[in-house]
Amino acid sequence: MSLEEYWAKRDFNRTLEPRGEVKTEDGKRFVVQEHHARSLHWDLRLERDGVLKSWAVPKGLPEVKGVRRLAVQTEDHPVEYADFSGIIHQGEYGGGEVAIWDSGDYEAEKWREDGIIVHFNGGRIKGRFCMIRLKGQRKNWLLFRCDRYEGKS
Ligand code: MN
Repeated sequence: MSLEEYWAKRDFNRTLEPRGEVKTEDGKRFVVQEHHARSLHWDLRLERDGVLKSWAVPKGLPEVKGVRRLAVQTEDHPVEYADFSGIIHQGEYGGGEVAIWDSGDYEAEKWREDGIIVHFNGGRIKGRFCMIRLKGQRKNWLLFRCDRYEGKS
């Protein structure tokens, strides 16, 4: 894992975002950050292998079953980023306000190149979510609720 791409995109003399480093211990945090950049989106980040694996979700996490949302994988972020909120100045990469929309921890039931299943235990987001990488596409995933047990209604 590497943060080279994250570092290369930012000037840490000009942004308040953390520079960070790859961690050796492996935690299980997740965060969803509401990011009012050029276009509003939500950034989903999962701690894994000493970094935050990251996706930009243009319409946010689906809160009901049956809704599939595009999630575009972005560069790994440092674990410290899970605590970041505030303003990224206009003109800097990702300029706009970042607010923590939800955070907590998660368990990975499956983590493969083409598919991920996680259980979120956040303040707002709880339950089982599936992510499937779209065939032949490096960065585009579908994200949806996939709770194992369904009611009869
Ligand atoms: Mn973002």
